[in-house]
Amino acid sequence: MPTEFETRIVIVGAGQAGGCAAEALRKGGHRGVITLLGAEPHAPYERPPLSKAMLTDAEPQSPFMRAEDYWSELDVQLLAGKPAVACDIKARRVVLQGGDEISFDKLLFATGAIPRRLALVERSGLPTFYLRTLEDSQALRSALKPNTRVALVGGGVIGLEVAASAIKLGSQVTVIEALDRLLVRALPEAVSNYLVALHESRGVKFRLGVSVQAADASGLVLSDGSRVEADMVVVGIGTAPCTELAKSIGAGSDDGITVDACGATSVTDVFAAGDVAIQFSRWHGRRLRIESWANAQNHAIAIASNMMSQRIEYTAAPWFWSDQYDMHLQVVGDATGDTIVVRSLGDEGRFATFSLRDGALVGGATVRCPKDMAAIRRLVAVCAHVNPEDLENPAFDLRRAQALT
Ligand code: FAD
Ligand code: NDP
Repeated sequence: MPTEFETRIVIVGAGQAGGCAAEALRKGGHRGVITLLGAEPHAPYERPPLSKAMLTDAEPQSPFMRAEDYWSELDVQLLAGKPAVACDIKARRVVLQGGDEISFDKLLFATGAIPRRLALVERSGLPTFYLRTLEDSQALRSALKPNTRVALVGGGVIGLEVAASAIKLGSQVTVIEALDRLLVRALPEAVSNYLVALHESRGVKFRLGVSVQAADASGLVLSDGSRVEADMVVVGIGTAPCTELAKSIGAGSDDGITVDACGATSVTDVFAAGDVAIQFSRWHGRRLRIESWANAQNHAIAIASNMMSQRIEYTAAPWFWSDQYDMHLQVVGDATGDTIVVRSLGDEGRFATFSLRDGALVGGATVRCPKDMAAIRRLVAVCAHVNPEDLENPAFDLRRAQALT
């Protein structure tokens, strides 16, 4: 019998979570075969630059997580461009496109998610773009030109980051969002309103509270009957988790793959990490998929150690950032609690918001003030009880609030 450190591990998905898990396994002392299967024809890379520097900069930094030969030096068998298409859980085998089979003792799903599609726009004849992969980013970069009229469907993070990049490139941008405000599920109203004002000041037009009803080769017809003339459309209306394989072995559903605090699924020796995993968040008070760079890295690292011999509960508060123009936004925990306190830091539109539920600090957001975020993250990590009046007071040193927890 192999020890926990000698098992054969197959990781399905060679994105950021898959890459981090493979590295953590090997560096954590795993001696068995580690196979990293990627549907994309690339070594693991990080996606944040795809909507930012890779669209705008002449010489953006490489998005690849590691140098090309790193994975073989680490003795990780990386099979890029080899999607797993079937899994026999009894025989402990995955089947790759083309028919090759790989045996495993333990399996990690790090399959991430793909963009939700908008068929009616795709059928219109208007050039339609999604943004998830390197190729998507390269295609979008070639299409974004000065004076191109870009309709962005979805006022989420893709929509807003692409809007900022497109404006930098001289395009004309309209963002269409079905809800009345931006990023309703992730941000409090104060931040949504700030983002609208920021983008409008750069020339972006917003159509909020309307959806796309029809599309033709020269534009979109919205639910209020109005038209948005466009040369191209970028759709960013959320993602669908990649769960076909997990579903086939009873470990997942259309919503994702539910895991316990240690990353284990309902199927023995099968784990999931990153965007595809549905985790319980004490900050949100419910289970959800956490779609962020930090989660892809840290969740995967924690789950990798649990695939060896540990039982470490992953307890990090969800956290993400977004860069739009020169504005740096950070969000921790659930920033949309029952009570929102705004702390204005006066100059240059710097402010923070705090999100409380039953008096406990469950989340926060900072606009242009990363230093405050460090203190907020520490408080949110323990759902601290902090006097709202102190939170609101810009003179109050957030680091002192720890004494009240
Ligand atoms: P993914 O990155 O989706 O990787 C999963 C991989 O698995 C994919 O390569 C997929 O092809 C592969 N796969 C799927 N099925 C199979 C199969 N059957 N066989 C083999 N391989 C398979 N987060 C932030 O916090 N800040 C940011 O600024 C930020 N910017 C972003 C910008 C963009 C454009 C995007 C798309 C995301 C951004 N994110 C950001 C989110 C962050 O990149 C994701 O949360 C992260 O990539 C998730 O990593 P993952 O490995 O779980 O999933
Ligand atoms: P989001 O879920 O952030 O936003 C999608 C937005 O589009 C939501 O506000 C959604 O509303 C709205 N929407 C849904 N359907 C329609 C419709 N038919 N018409 C108009 N609006 C609609 O997803 P994105 O697509 O922006 O991002 C996709 C992925 O990329 C996520 O995993 C995200 O985390 C990641 N990403 C992260 C970044 C970051 O963290 N900085 C940057 C870029 C991407 P509703 O909420 O009601 O569904």
